[in-house]
Amino acid sequence: MLLFVTSHSTAVGEAINQDPSPRVLVIYPYDERVAATTVAGEAVRNRLLEATGGKIDLFSEFLDLSRFPEHEHIERMAQFLAIKYADRRPDVVVALGEQSAKFIVDHRASLAGNARIIVAGFNKSTGLQMNLPTDVIGAFTEFNIIKTAEFARRLQPHARKLFVIGGSSEFDRWWLETAKAELAEFSKDYVTTYLEDLTIEEFVAKTAALPSNSIVLALTIFKDRSGRNFIPREAVKQIAATATAPVFGPYSTYIEYGSVGGNVVTFEALGRTVADLAFDAIQGKPITHVQAPHFNVADARQLDRWGMSEKDLPPGTVLMFRQPSFLEQHWLAALLASAVIAVQSIAIILLLVERRRRRTAEVQSRHRLLEVIHLNQSATAGALSASIAHELNQPLGAIRSNAEAASIVLRSACPDLKLIEQILADIQDDDQRAHDIISRMRGLLKKRAEIEWQEFDLNDLTATAIKILKGEAVRRGIEVSSTHASDALPVRADKVHVQQVILNIAINAMDAMGKAGREKKLMLETRLTKDANAELSISDSGDGIPDGKLAAIFEPFYTTKASGTGLGLSIARTIVETYGGRILASNARDGGAVFRVIFPLAKAETT
Ligand code: ADP
Repeated sequence: MLLFVTSHSTAVGEAINQDPSPRVLVIYPYDERVAATTVAGEAVRNRLLEATGGKIDLFSEFLDLSRFPEHEHIERMAQFLAIKYADRRPDVVVALGEQSAKFIVDHRASLAGNARIIVAGFNKSTGLQMNLPTDVIGAFTEFNIIKTAEFARRLQPHARKLFVIGGSSEFDRWWLETAKAELAEFSKDYVTTYLEDLTIEEFVAKTAALPSNSIVLALTIFKDRSGRNFIPREAVKQIAATATAPVFGPYSTYIEYGSVGGNVVTFEALGRTVADLAFDAIQGKPITHVQAPHFNVADARQLDRWGMSEKDLPPGTVLMFRQPSFLEQHWLAALLASAVIAVQSIAIILLLVERRRRRTAEVQSRHRLLEVIHLNQSATAGALSASIAHELNQPLGAIRSNAEAASIVLRSACPDLKLIEQILADIQDDDQRAHDIISRMRGLLKKRAEIEWQEFDLNDLTATAIKILKGEAVRRGIEVSSTHASDALPVRADKVHVQQVILNIAINAMDAMGKAGREKKLMLETRLTKDANAELSISDSGDGIPDGKLAAIFEPFYTTKASGTGLGLSIARTIVETYGGRILASNARDGGAVFRVIFPLAKAETT
């Protein structure tokens, strides 16, 4: 199983098969269940199929020698195969393993004729013992324990102890002696112990009590001291399971059995090497003995077990059983999660942008509304200007008359000072009246850059509005009456805006009572509703609103007046709704329209 040295190489002068589909027979020593040979055989097949583009006839024969080791069986197999392949002699025979090699060498004349023979999967001493003919070419596996020891040193740079394990079979002992010689130099750096001549139980017990700074090299245990037979990897499995230090070995088969790794020949690599030889042979190229390539191989699960780092592995090491990282394992879920997060982020950004946009739009529309309300105020002031001027004229006229009367009294020989005092008091009152009219006018025209929230009593505001309207009503011959709630009706809004609502509705009401010869009454009434709202109703004795138009009158630009804009009620509704209220229009039973403006009561400030 170890070294195979050959002194010969063989060249073949010409291609051995003119047939476009050369025949290659692969002989397996055991049955199809033995992984080592079937893995190598598969690699041979795949490589040859690939190299020839499928133009090859591949045959497989399983000698089944582990179950039928008898000489008679071997002879029967030879006869059978000789007959079977009589008309289809192989061009190349690949014999995997020592027993297959011996079989084909012994029976090549009857079975393979002039076929090129390639043997593989065993080592120098075996080859020499078999006395292979010079034209039989080998792909040999050579194991070098030094490379595995160096591999272990890289992963355990601080190890101070070296333990080498070997069994008691002839081969095991030979391997131990070879290893001692090969490791002579290497082991100088360590306190080295050869664990040999032990039973399997002793191997297990000793390796279960090793200091952790130890390197354990497992050679082979085909037999233990008590003479028990083992498949070496099974023995290694028992030892590695409880070992207190990492176990390394020069065989790929140990990998799955608890070995951290080592410098090994893999069966795939061996198969590929054999296939390359076979392909060259098919093409008539000279072929010579080769050595199957070695690899450093490590088991990721064992690296984890011993806390070793992948980074310390020699470059090019084949890492087996590497657990995929979370991302590798759940890449789809991770991808979906990232996509969802990305989509959500985009959605959030869009919503924020949208919110910002909406806010800007809200501010802009509020500013526009304030502009419109102001225009509406100006229009109202314009409509009322005649009556306001008239109203203002009264105190001004009285002041002038009183002033004239006072100067006449003063020019008399004996001025009546008491009378003058009375006249001056009247002048002051008239001045106050004029001042009130002007300040109401000012209030009517007040422009808002922003809404001025304030709490006020709807009763008071209604009274002020009536004062503004009074002059106009008188001018139009309209009787204005009002009743107000006994309770205060606190409302939170911008006073100027709500006053504008009252004026819009009241002026419309006065417009509706234009016809002569009819009683003209304008009634303003405030009350606290059952559901605790503040309500102002404005009713008139006009013609009322056609039933089908009760909703339309609030639409912008709806007007029935020759010089109307159709904006008054639409502005009134916007204002009322801005402050959380409602505006309703209906017709009274005895004629005339009724407008009800309802606001929520301002809540008492809580502390
Ligand atoms: P405008 O006064 O410029 O016409 P408004 O929006 O204030 O615009 O009024 C819209 C319409 O509603 C009026 O043209 C009128 O037809 C109707 N209207 C409003 N108030 C009354 C009312 N008290 N009686 C009858 N119709 C009314």
